[in-house]
Amino acid sequence: MAFDFSFSADQDAFRGAVRAFLEREVAPVVVAMDEDETFPAATVRKMQAEGYFGVPVPEEFGGSGLGKVGYCILLEELGKVDASHSAIVAAHTSLGTTPLLSYGTEAQKRRWLTPAAKGEKLLAFSLTEAGSGSDSGAVHTLAEKDGDGWSLTGTKIYVTNGKEADTIVLLAANDVKKGPSGGVTAFLVDRGTPGFSVGRCEKKMGLHGTSTAELILDHVNVGPEHVLHEVGKGFHVAMTALDVGRVSLGAASLGGMQAACAQSLAFAQNRTQFGLPISEYEAIQFKLADMAMRIHALRLMVYHAAANQDRLGPDPARWSRLERAAKTREAAVVKCLASEWASETIDEALQIHGGLGYIRGTPVERAYRDARISEIFEGTNEIQRVVIARDLLGRGL
Ligand SMILES: Cc1cc2nc3c(=O)[nH]c(=O)nc-3n(C[C@H](O)[C@H](O)[C@H](O)COP(=O)(O)OP(=O)(O)OC[C@H]3O[C@@H](n4cnc5c(N)ncnc54)[C@H](O)[C@@H]3O)c2cc1C
Repeated sequence: MAFDFSFSADQDAFRGAVRAFLEREVAPVVVAMDEDETFPAATVRKMQAEGYFGVPVPEEFGGSGLGKVGYCILLEELGKVDASHSAIVAAHTSLGTTPLLSYGTEAQKRRWLTPAAKGEKLLAFSLTEAGSGSDSGAVHTLAEKDGDGWSLTGTKIYVTNGKEADTIVLLAANDVKKGPSGGVTAFLVDRGTPGFSVGRCEKKMGLHGTSTAELILDHVNVGPEHVLHEVGKGFHVAMTALDVGRVSLGAASLGGMQAACAQSLAFAQNRTQFGLPISEYEAIQFKLADMAMRIHALRLMVYHAAANQDRLGPDPARWSRLERAAKTREAAVVKCLASEWASETIDEALQIHGGLGYIRGTPVERAYRDARISEIFEGTNEIQRVVIARDLLGRGL
């Protein structure tokens, strides 16, 4: 295997354009967004118009065709500026467009993927229920056969973009007893379908720009064209989406770590105590060095995983068992280390800022609250370790 860790001129140009856009349009709104706890509808619309909600989707389906590497560039830059915007894009792209691209029929791609990639429609992904978190195959929202189609009844929780999404990729049980092996099916549920409503939206520690919504389904009737992939194969759909999500979460964490490191460097060189800038003290230098080490390692890990996913392509039918297993392990490794390194890095950044780091509204204080969720969502880090250990015990190193 050839190792080439350089970005192409097009990828560099894309990064430059994203960075300029985010600094101009998004950076100025994040403090107020965080304080008001509101979905940043205006900046989301601008990002949709720029094509940032379809970056890895092929051009034939309305996307930019920049692959997972391009998508991680976007998420890395977003992670530097704001975790809420990055979570909104990731819930839509990793968890919404991936299932459609990997498992959708041609007609489903035209109907749901193309408008989503063009930024005309927003997507969400809904797996979690009150009794089904880490045990994600234990969903109890019922999918009952109703003529040609299906009737969906149950309550989903913690859905990012749940309040705003036009369509939700939603997992329901066609056979509760079978669980993840044949008992879970993925459905495309459109907002406005009779019987569908948005329930409570959670107040959260961070990610204040995102909605985290309860979705209520009361005999929601959908036709057979709303079933994504085969009946009973919804768990595959969810896991394929999460493999992409976990690497993109790594990219967003990488961005967040770089921002925290840059802020810490600037602060440490300017803050004088005992007659010297605090950057002259070894205790501070070692924290900065640890940040730089983690950033360096994570950058290689994220883009290695993204390039591997691009090499495999989006069609699961073309992946061997070994390729699928290696991809899933690599995504779990990236997600787990990225989220823990981000938490540690931002915690140290806060420490370098002293009391100022604890003051509401400073970037490092917001980053501290925003970062913690990455150890929990898209599968907790305990579950990532379960995934890695199982594969290790099965396949070896
Ligand atoms: C802000 C936010 C956004 C979210 N967005 C979405 C979304 O868009 N779509 C969606 O479907 N879900 C979403 N979630 C849900 C999220 O993925 C779950 O919260 C997460 O998977 C954990 O599930 P749980 O909260 O039920 O915790 P539990 O599964 O109850 O876990 C509790 C603790 O037990 C540990 N644990 C459980 N089982 C094991 C085991 N076998 N071995 C070791 N430890 C174990 C866990 O690691 C954790 O520490 C979101 C959650 C939040 C808070």
